[in-house]
Amino acid sequence: ALKTGIVGLPNIGKSTMFNALCENAKAQAANFPFCTIEPNVGIVAVPDPRLQELSKISGSEKIIPTSVEFVDIAGLVKGASKGEGLGNQFLANIRECDSIVQVVRCFEDGDVIHVAGKVDPLDDTDVINFELALADITQIEKRLERLKKTKGKSGEEAKRNEVEAGALQRIMAALEQNKPARSVALSDEEAELVRGLYLLTAKPMVYAANVAEDDLADPGANRHVAALRSKAEEEGRGVVVVSAQVEAELNELDSEEAAEYLAGLGVEEGGLKSLIRCTYQQLGLLTYFTTGEKETRAWTIHEGYTAPQAAGVIHTDFEKGFIRAETVAYDDFVAAGGFGAAKEKGLLRLEGKEYVVKEGDILMFRFAT
Ligand code: GDP
Repeated sequence: ALKTGIVGLPNIGKSTMFNALCENAKAQAANFPFCTIEPNVGIVAVPDPRLQELSKISGSEKIIPTSVEFVDIAGLVKGASKGEGLGNQFLANIRECDSIVQVVRCFEDGDVIHVAGKVDPLDDTDVINFELALADITQIEKRLERLKKTKGKSGEEAKRNEVEAGALQRIMAALEQNKPARSVALSDEEAELVRGLYLLTAKPMVYAANVAEDDLADPGANRHVAALRSKAEEEGRGVVVVSAQVEAELNELDSEEAAEYLAGLGVEEGGLKSLIRCTYQQLGLLTYFTTGEKETRAWTIHEGYTAPQAAGVIHTDFEKGFIRAETVAYDDFVAAGGFGAAKEKGLLRLEGKEYVVKEGDILMFRFAT
């Protein structure tokens, strides 16, 4: 499963948010096969209203959404990249993740101690981003040192090393200007060579602004959120507003009480759903569907997957024996009201091996065993 690491300074609501994510997943466990698998790892369903629509049309017995794995990575502090706290261990945990959610404290509460003594999202994100960048710089320096050893030699390997070193030097220059590795444009070859370093700042990252319940209805009025938003915009990153505490409280309530509580706050949700959706989107993933009487199910693929590759996500036999895929776009399927009607209207297409699957496609595979 795709992993997202939850990072941030201590005492800003990471665990509260993580627990809310897991409790919420557990509450839906009757329908969804998701749960907390380790104390700090949880699998969370990606909410997608299209699943309900499709399930209604097909009269499906059950719905199976796609999922994202969240990992609560506590303990990132100032100096972590130099081994402060349990620094290196935490950085290694982040390295294993596909993307990062950086929780940022935007709520004021005199009872909750802030490690730096005051709530300041700009300072806080600087501290975390600096540690991530420093960890990358250390990693790159080590790698460049090793690459130097083949300098002057000829042959394929030496050529590859030269390309890699060139890319790493450009990334280094960016990091020194407070820019993430992600901001450096790389050729396919360079990207492939650099991938093995699992650079932390090369991972997509979104900020989760943890706000007080009173700020949910109009988060922009909170100056901390406003400041974080403009910083994120400069960096080309997204901000999702969440109230971890509201989410924790929602999990204690039945659905009617929850709706009432949210209405009282002037919102429809506490932000957790949009955080999950945003995380999924920033991973550069697409969803396609299979639907029938037995189940309606969402499947996750990478952008650019062909129909046989998409079939392979269900089962390797589907990919090996792929013949063709009956395909209909989500909107067409819903407008027609099912496979049969879509076919009559000429909206159902037969696609072959070269077909590149699109977001929201509904697929039915024909394959030989
Ligand atoms: P972590 O160290 O980042 O994992 O932080 P925790 O989730 O353990 O939260 C630290 C403290 O902040 C706890 O006492 C929480 O109850 C409190 N807290 C978390 N989120 C909020 C919030 O949105 N508002 C308020 N007032 N307190 C919160």
